[in-house]
Amino acid sequence: MTTSLVIGDYEIATVLDSPAPLRDPAIIFPSVPPAAWDPYRSFALDPDGKWPLDWRGHLIRATYGEGPVILVDAGMGADVNEHTGEPGQLLHNLAALGVEPGDIDVLVTTHCHGDHVGWNVAYQVGGDTPSLTFPNATHWIASRDWEHYLKPENANPAFDKSVKPLEALGALKLIEGVEQIAPGVATLPTNGHTPGHQCVLIESGGQTAVITGDLFHSVAQVTEQDWCPIFDVDTAMSTHSRRSLLSRAMAEEWIVFSGHLPTGTSIGRVVSVGEKTAWQPI
Ligand SMILES: [Zn+2]
Repeated sequence: MTTSLVIGDYEIATVLDSPAPLRDPAIIFPSVPPAAWDPYRSFALDPDGKWPLDWRGHLIRATYGEGPVILVDAGMGADVNEHTGEPGQLLHNLAALGVEPGDIDVLVTTHCHGDHVGWNVAYQVGGDTPSLTFPNATHWIASRDWEHYLKPENANPAFDKSVKPLEALGALKLIEGVEQIAPGVATLPTNGHTPGHQCVLIESGGQTAVITGDLFHSVAQVTEQDWCPIFDVDTAMSTHSRRSLLSRAMAEEWIVFSGHLPTGTSIGRVVSVGEKTAWQPI
């Protein structure tokens, strides 16, 4: 089961927060007829036809010992999850990699949905005063997401709880487009799932890897690139972003760290099989 890889000067590791509740694909992908899942059923869905996914972050560390410690996305968080009955395990799994919260220098948020920002801040039991979970981290948030979720018509409780407080806590860095985080590591806008959705690109030692956030959720979308879950804010834009990034990843043989595929199959390549594209786990 591959959960980390070295790409040139960087080690990239998956950091599980929690398995998400099993979902009904007919509810999450309402425009996809049930029979269209048949070619993917054996590996994209469980034996009961439910769709499994994980909530996770990714840790990027320089293998040469210098440079920022980067966490991409902060899971669902410490609250006991109503579906799993368990709190998230992100901090526990970071500790297993030898990383304490104070070690994180940069926290890149792919987008401002609740399962990606859950650990950003902590609240004492019964309290409403947030404090930073990662006291030394600057949180890199796309300004397009920030501006979108500040508008009352786009109310997002997870944004109000876990992202908005970052400004007053002095930990917010709003970014536009491509911004370099470390040598060879940069944000890559892939808008559509949310207005400011972004990936993280790692180019080092002649290899390229990408952390894709919610560019795609199911392994079936690597083949059926126009399938959109109900979570996509702008499906035309998310489809365009998905198609362009996945075709680049295939042509240039990138290693892809997916945001939600189940642990053990979440790292892979996009390959061509006959006329189609497919996911090949590493
Ligand atoms: Zn997500």
